[in-house]
Amino acid sequence: MIKTPIQQKALNLINCHLSVIRKQVASRRFDHNRVAEIEINEFIYEGKVVDRIMVVLRATGCAHYLSGNGCSMCAHYDGTTDRPVTKKEYLAQWDSVVSGKAVEEKYQKNFDINNYPIVCLYNLGSLFCPCEVPPKAVKEIFRSINTLTGIKKTIVESRAEYVTQEALKNIREVYSGVVEVGIGLESSNDEVRELCHHKNMPNLKVFENAVNLLHKYDFKALAYVNQKPIFLTEKEAVDDAVKTALYAYKIGADAVSIEPTSLQNHSLTDFLHNINAYRVPWLWSVREVVRGIYKNLPNKKKVDIRIGGYFEEEVLSGSQGVAPGADKNEIFPYETSGNCRHCNNRNIKAIKQFNKTLSLKVLDDQSECPYCYKIWETAMKVKDSRSIPIRIIDTLEVSAPNHGN
Ligand code: SF4
Ligand SMILES: [Zn+2]
Repeated sequence: MIKTPIQQKALNLINCHLSVIRKQVASRRFDHNRVAEIEINEFIYEGKVVDRIMVVLRATGCAHYLSGNGCSMCAHYDGTTDRPVTKKEYLAQWDSVVSGKAVEEKYQKNFDINNYPIVCLYNLGSLFCPCEVPPKAVKEIFRSINTLTGIKKTIVESRAEYVTQEALKNIREVYSGVVEVGIGLESSNDEVRELCHHKNMPNLKVFENAVNLLHKYDFKALAYVNQKPIFLTEKEAVDDAVKTALYAYKIGADAVSIEPTSLQNHSLTDFLHNINAYRVPWLWSVREVVRGIYKNLPNKKKVDIRIGGYFEEEVLSGSQGVAPGADKNEIFPYETSGNCRHCNNRNIKAIKQFNKTLSLKVLDDQSECPYCYKIWETAMKVKDSRSIPIRIIDTLEVSAPNHGN
């Protein structure tokens, strides 16, 4: 999709900034036998609110940032290991979850993984990429899930290009239950996805093939749609997220998760935020995205939609993941989408409620905040007549991240 010299110049600048930023990560020495995080959160499943367990494996990390510096908004790199995690180590992590050993002592007594009908099994990258997780480890984990009768659905993540027959057969040989695969689509606009997100998925065909293949093997396809990548105005970002979600449903995705951008250290988004060239999306805009999707769905079709990052959660384990020098778990963002301090809490509560009910009414019921609503309206009117590559060049040519240590 990168066709013109100006697009190439913009892409080079993004790459160059990202490679400097990634080198600033101080240390990635973690215990390979301990999971990065275990969290319980409430989730809607078959019309009912259930507890879901989210397990983040300490992992080798995403092949995209190992070979190409990764996506602009993502810094999962900080939580991955400095040498590959082996099959044995992945299995030791999984076993520690099943046995309950991985959860903090105070939760161990009552812990039973079968109490959680939904399991998210994340690896800070693609579970189906053989360089990230040995396929034999994936197979053994699913063999184990097959014996855990309380688990009704497993959610994993993979970049689209790793959704292959081999990867899906590998699981189907040992497990016939419900598996949903979350794929980062981010934007259906090639220029936005390749430059603003730095996704390295030049063609939507890759995504469409992945969805079709998932269905062939009876998996569910979940599309992650990022709301407000760098270099888009507030309004452009709302329109882009709505359009992308509708595209995902149209080509057959079973669910869409809107992911409002949050800030993680050592991401390009964080760098731009620090030089006042980026603001996280407003929560008012998140509501606009949901409204836009509901309004434009053909025949008022019922859809599975989520707003990522907004669930009532309880962390059962996570402190062991804190990187040297950091005061919190390195995989958590330090700032999420927001309005103002007067109305953030109630709007976040409403979004969490939306995630449990899928009712637009709970979002519509939020009255205009006297402190920030008008500011948001003004932000929505901001226009930028420059092309995306020119915006990137104008910003990045004059600002270099410092080389750190
Ligand atoms: S968003 Fe996903 S594909 Fe992109 S760098 Fe992060 S883990 Fe990799
Ligand atoms: Zn407000």
